[in-house]
Amino acid sequence: MSEAVVEARAVRKAFGRTEALRGTSLAVEEGEVVAVTGPSGSGKSTLLLCLAGVLRPEAGEVWYDARKLSDLSENDRTRLRRREFGLVLQFGQLVPELTAVQNVALPLLLEKHDRRAATTMATGWLERLGALDVADALPGEMSGGEGQRVAIARALVTGPRVIFADEPTGALDTVSGEHVLAALLTTARESGATVVMVTHDNRVAASADREVVIRDGVVELTPVIS
Ligand code: ADP
Repeated sequence: MSEAVVEARAVRKAFGRTEALRGTSLAVEEGEVVAVTGPSGSGKSTLLLCLAGVLRPEAGEVWYDARKLSDLSENDRTRLRRREFGLVLQFGQLVPELTAVQNVALPLLLEKHDRRAATTMATGWLERLGALDVADALPGEMSGGEGQRVAIARALVTGPRVIFADEPTGALDTVSGEHVLAALLTTARESGATVVMVTHDNRVAASADREVVIRDGVVELTPVIS
C-alpha cells in the first residue's frame, strides 16, 4: 500500500458552538481522485480547507507527506500552498481587476517567475482548458463556466501535486459543469496530480476514484478501492 500524500487524523474544528469536524480522518494517496460528498453543512468544505492548510484544526493532525502542517510556520504553510497545492473554490475567486491571462500568471509571478515566461505558461493553460477566447477579458466579462475554467487554469499553472476543489461545478449549469469537470480531471490525470474535491453532484462523485461521505463532521463511509 502506498503512503498517503495528504491525511487528516482525528481532526476537530469548531466555529463558535458549531462543531464542523468531530474527529474526521481521511487519507488520500498520490494520484488518487477523491470526491467528498455528504449533506450541506456536514463539514466537507471545512475538511478541504483543513487539508489544504488554510484552516487550522483545534485538535488532530493534518499531514502532507512526512510533514505535519501544524509544525510549519505560517510562511512555510503559505509557501507549501503556493508551490504544491492548487485550490479551486466555488466562485472562482479571480482578481476582478486582472484579465484572465493575468489572473492565471499571478501564482507564477508570486513565485518570482519572469513576466514573459509566466504569460506564456498562463496562455498555454488557458488553451488547454478551452478558455483562450477570454484570455484578455476581465472576470466580470466572463460567463460562470469561463470564469471557472480560468480559476482551474490558475490552480494548475504551478504544476501542483495536490488539487483541492470545492464544488468546482457548483455554480454552473449541467453542460458547462461537465466540460469544466472533464477539463480538471483530464489535466490532473495527465500530470498525475492528486485531487480532493467537494461535491454534492452524483455525477461528479462518480467520476472520482473514490467517494468519501461526511455526515455531521465525521467520515461515514470509505469504500475500499477495487
Ligand atoms: P459543507 O461544506 O458540508 O456544506 P461546511 O464545512 O461549510 O459544510 O460547514 C460545516 C458547519 O460549520 C456548518 O454548520 C457551517 O454553518 C459551519 N461553518 C463553516 N464555516 C464557518 C465559518 N467560517 N463561520 C461559522 N460557521 C461556519
